[in-house]
Amino acid sequence: MRLSPRPKPNPLFDSPASVWHDATATVKLALRQFPLETGMNVIYSANKKRIWSPVEDQSFMHTIVLNNISFHIETDRLAEKLRIGPKSRHLDDLKRLINEAQTIARPKALYKTAYIDSKGDDYVIVEGVRLSSRVLRVNLEHAHRVFPYVATCGTELQEWATSFGDILERYWAEIIQEEALRAAMRALNEHLSTRHLHGNTSSMSPGRLEAWPMEEQRNLFALLGDTEGSIGVHLTESLLMVPTKSVSGIRFPTEESFESCQLCPRERCAGRQAPYDKGLYDRKYRSGTE
Ligand code: SF4
Repeated sequence: MRLSPRPKPNPLFDSPASVWHDATATVKLALRQFPLETGMNVIYSANKKRIWSPVEDQSFMHTIVLNNISFHIETDRLAEKLRIGPKSRHLDDLKRLINEAQTIARPKALYKTAYIDSKGDDYVIVEGVRLSSRVLRVNLEHAHRVFPYVATCGTELQEWATSFGDILERYWAEIIQEEALRAAMRALNEHLSTRHLHGNTSSMSPGRLEAWPMEEQRNLFALLGDTEGSIGVHLTESLLMVPTKSVSGIRFPTEESFESCQLCPRERCAGRQAPYDKGLYDRKYRSGTE
């Protein structure tokens, strides 16, 4: 009697645990070294354990890295901002720094498409992570999908900026880092509004208001996954982001625009984006239990 040949084992589905583990490690390595290109973006796994999840579980695809962000500084505009006139002896030095920075800089951003599991009185659970803030909770009243993000000037520019001994050049380098961070934020917002959020949106960041304190950075970063491996941003013990010219937050669809500045009474703030509205918290956010 002739036996039919034994089918070859599929290395992904028929292997013993050790082989499975090796295969997973190999693919993780491959994803790091040869990330999947999707237009200008690169997709990494945010939750490494889920790389080999069944097809219907696409959670690993929800973390997107933007790492091909164009960065150009208009020299005249920056010189004017730094009060360096056309005849200033500093102008050539500033141009040199701008040229160096434009060669080195790799601004980046990372975001995740995340779904809200449940909502309490002063918190929301997003993909198993609790974000505690009454203001955030109210702002997400009608949202079921949110976009946590982090954007950065990039480690390349951070290292470059810290290499200057001269105080003035160091200051200029910091301003240039901020320009790179703005470029990353612009690219992120354009990407989100083109791909996901076609209507009105708002954003909140931990630490901008007491109503969503800095400690919440830990939970936001837990939600974002491996930010250091993907774009080089990590959170220190004291909750600072490194590179320091980085911004984290959560963007969401909203009918009524919201700016944290509306709830912030701080006077003389150069970064203010909306006037302080003294009665807003009581009108909109105060809960019955407060
Ligand atoms: S007013 Fe200034 S300090 Fe207050 S939330 Fe706005 S930017 Fe931040």
